[in-house]
Amino acid sequence: MSRTAIISEVDYEAQGLQRGFLRLFHSVHRSAYGYIPIPIVVIQNGTGPTALFISGTHGDEYEGQVALCNLARALTPEAIQGRVILLPAANLPAAVAGMRTSPLDDGNLNRLFPGDPLGGPTTQIAHYIEHELVSRADIVVDLHSGGSSLHYVPAALMMQDDDNPGRQAKLVDALKAFASPVAYVGHSQPGQGAGRTTEAAARRAGKLALGTELGGSGTVTADALRVAERGVRNILAHMGITAPETAEPGPVRILDVAGQDYFVYAPGTGLFEPLAEPGDSVVAGQPAARVHTPETPWAPAETVHFRHDGFVLCKRTPGRIMRGDCLFHLGTDLDW
Ligand SMILES: [Zn+2]
Repeated sequence: MSRTAIISEVDYEAQGLQRGFLRLFHSVHRSAYGYIPIPIVVIQNGTGPTALFISGTHGDEYEGQVALCNLARALTPEAIQGRVILLPAANLPAAVAGMRTSPLDDGNLNRLFPGDPLGGPTTQIAHYIEHELVSRADIVVDLHSGGSSLHYVPAALMMQDDDNPGRQAKLVDALKAFASPVAYVGHSQPGQGAGRTTEAAARRAGKLALGTELGGSGTVTADALRVAERGVRNILAHMGITAPETAEPGPVRILDVAGQDYFVYAPGTGLFEPLAEPGDSVVAGQPAARVHTPETPWAPAETVHFRHDGFVLCKRTPGRIMRGDCLFHLGTDLDW
């Protein structure tokens, strides 16, 4: 496969602090030879592990972007041993637009790995992250949230890796080290972009990968931001890049999200009346939501039920729904 056409203003092998842009060339009517400037920060001191932190993979997920802006200002070479790479607005056009996908090509960055250096802008970004950044990292942390359409109990997550027990054990250690009060384990499946995500890129390279779902609803809460910032600091310490944190990481409730029956989808088009909230415990058969049709207010409301016992990890935010929209998903306790 061809090499990337993106030019980096930073040198990944240099010592010290570097701030600059990845130049993603995008020739359009208003700018013939122009580039999209994707900000990147590289901090290196001596030799040691490399941690890659990414946010803005989805542009409408803001908690991680705020956390990495704060870190980009605060972190100094003197404070670390090793290397930290920050990519706070990975899909910059989407981040600037406050959208999940890029307004340039409708690209969902977390569904386009391993990317293509000859593809559209979002596909080129995926290729660059997989081949130029993940390849240099020991751990990749991609900070997501529920975005505009979902709201989560702030959580870190890992994907189950049955093929590599050694990697799996290190993932569990990292998940506990992140120390979000609630965390969950996902399973690679089509609904979650199997093979096409940042996590998949890290897995292909044999690198550790954590994700988060930090809140959402297209906003930032102080609580979710605290979980994000503490988690990022905890991972730096866990990897030996910064000095150990003095505070104990605290207990982590680890949940399993095993399959499609953990998800509740809208059974029809209309108005969403939720019958549960994030953080609730529910049982199989319990009503999850009613769907109303205000256009015909006397028409019977349709009820959809939870198909599994569990803890409600997230809920849809917008009130209008169509068949196929995710309304909730659950997790069940793991004794890890
Ligand atoms: Zn996301």
